[in-house]
Amino acid sequence: MRLDATVAHLDRLIGFPTVSSDSNLDLVEYVEAALAAEGIKARRIADRSGRKASLLATIGPPDRTGIVLSAHTDVVPADEAGWTSPPFSASLRGGRIHGRGSCDMKGFIACVLAHIGVFKRMASATPIHLAFSYDEEIGCRGAPDLVAAVAQMEVLPAFCIVGEPTSLKPVSAHKGKVARRIIVKGLTGHSAMPHRAANAVTAAARIVSLIDDIARDCASGAAALSAFDPPYTTVHVGSLHGGSALNLVPDRAVIEFEIRSTPGTDVGALLTQIDAGVAAQRDRLRRTAPEADIAVEDMTSYPGLATQEGDPALSIVAGLAAAEDKPATVSFGTEAGLYSAAGIPTIVCGPGNMARAHKADEWIGLDELAAANRMMERLAQRLDRPLAEWLDRPIKTLRNASRQ
Ligand SMILES: [Zn+2]
Repeated sequence: MRLDATVAHLDRLIGFPTVSSDSNLDLVEYVEAALAAEGIKARRIADRSGRKASLLATIGPPDRTGIVLSAHTDVVPADEAGWTSPPFSASLRGGRIHGRGSCDMKGFIACVLAHIGVFKRMASATPIHLAFSYDEEIGCRGAPDLVAAVAQMEVLPAFCIVGEPTSLKPVSAHKGKVARRIIVKGLTGHSAMPHRAANAVTAAARIVSLIDDIARDCASGAAALSAFDPPYTTVHVGSLHGGSALNLVPDRAVIEFEIRSTPGTDVGALLTQIDAGVAAQRDRLRRTAPEADIAVEDMTSYPGLATQEGDPALSIVAGLAAAEDKPATVSFGTEAGLYSAAGIPTIVCGPGNMARAHKADEWIGLDELAAANRMMERLAQRLDRPLAEWLDRPIKTLRNASRQ
């Protein structure tokens, strides 16, 4: 029966085309209404345009330590070929619900919404905080304000579950990411007179070469963490554009690069090395063209996740998810690193598989939703006890309790 409610919510959620570039307010209103039906107030944290908002709501006593359930409301565009049903309309076929966001990650949100009532009834001692963001898919842009609001709540939550699709396996670590754009502005001129111009493309090429050297250093570095594939920090140049004609000295070039860092990597030190290379090229260009410049822009960044092995949150979430395996690592990034950086131990654990996300005919299985519902159920059943009591309880007891 709760699966019916989950499917009904997912049907509505997929129907809101919350592509990151567009507004998510219709979906936000829908979630607000679902919460209001149980007498729960939610707080909007809007972006500057007012077209998007995160939502933060507490179910249960706000003056007790609780648990954050985190999700993003946005989805990637559905422009890829191969959709066999309209992407923004849920389609149930063969035990699978197809639709953009079904797996990443409206399925999880639907499971959460289907349990608002039981959370409300049970949460006498431990509150649940719902934290739904926007703009995750374009670099976790909405989450920082939301995470700051969570971190400023009356009592800091004990831990956070980010419900990204992990086949309901607890994930304790992922790499962090910084992406930047470097815009080189030189001085154009006839190619026969290069000494009177400042070549932006060659300056950019030298910077790219430096970035590649840093990438090699990282790959051969000692601090390899075998849990990741590859087991080191990667530094990657994704694009280099510049120049328009052979007989002109190019006055503009644009580089885009990213760093995907293993936990513990001093990303700041890598960026300082790149900045020094940029400064050297700026000086070089200015020898012939004082107006030359190189600007560096942030594109996206989010911190990595590395929840400590012995953290009680890990065993609790493993118990809730009925997961037997050791916590895993994943190659994709999530908002988990932001919660972790705010001092809230965070585990990524949600229904579905990321391999199906960002693809035509994205789907989530009814069996996967049912399993996530059981996780929500186990969670609900414990909310009448303070978290401190859970932490002392071995996983086995937690699992048994959930079956009674
Ligand atoms: Zn996602």
